[in-house]
Amino acid sequence: MEEQKFNKFLRKSINSLLVANAIILGGIDILLGTAHHIVSPKIANQERLESLLDVERKNAGIADDIEVKAYLGNESCAEKVRDKSYEITIAKHFPFNDTCALRHELYHVAGGHCDDMHNFKNSYFGRLGNTVKFLWIYEPEAVIYSATGIKLRNLPLVGSNGER
Ligand SMILES: [Zn+2]
Repeated sequence: MEEQKFNKFLRKSINSLLVANAIILGGIDILLGTAHHIVSPKIANQERLESLLDVERKNAGIADDIEVKAYLGNESCAEKVRDKSYEITIAKHFPFNDTCALRHELYHVAGGHCDDMHNFKNSYFGRLGNTVKFLWIYEPEAVIYSATGIKLRNLPLVGSNGER
């Protein structure tokens, strides 16, 4: 097989495998996540979100020199805006507008997951590595933390020690 064809074949195979994994892990995440979303306290407005953010960012171990802003929006996600600055969006719709979702996204910030996504988004293998890490490590860890409060590694990986 020509190298170019082989690379295309390899990428297609890897992508298919990732989709299969996403379906399996996604199912586990949805089951655990949904179960917890049902009981987690709801966030009705921006004011409530900000007061919870003050408490929960400390619980996640995020240092004071890291800026984290949070908003209510269409879906929950976290992203790095620039050095030491992150933005979290929490889905405003029931049942996902809750503390569980906020804790989940804060874990992504504290764990340095947003930094990885930010740094490697422009290369295929960078994105591929991120997708694998995301599915097998980051997402399950964030789901476990948001549902139980258990941190599977020492956090934070971002903070006043000069990293990230
Ligand atoms: Zn997540």
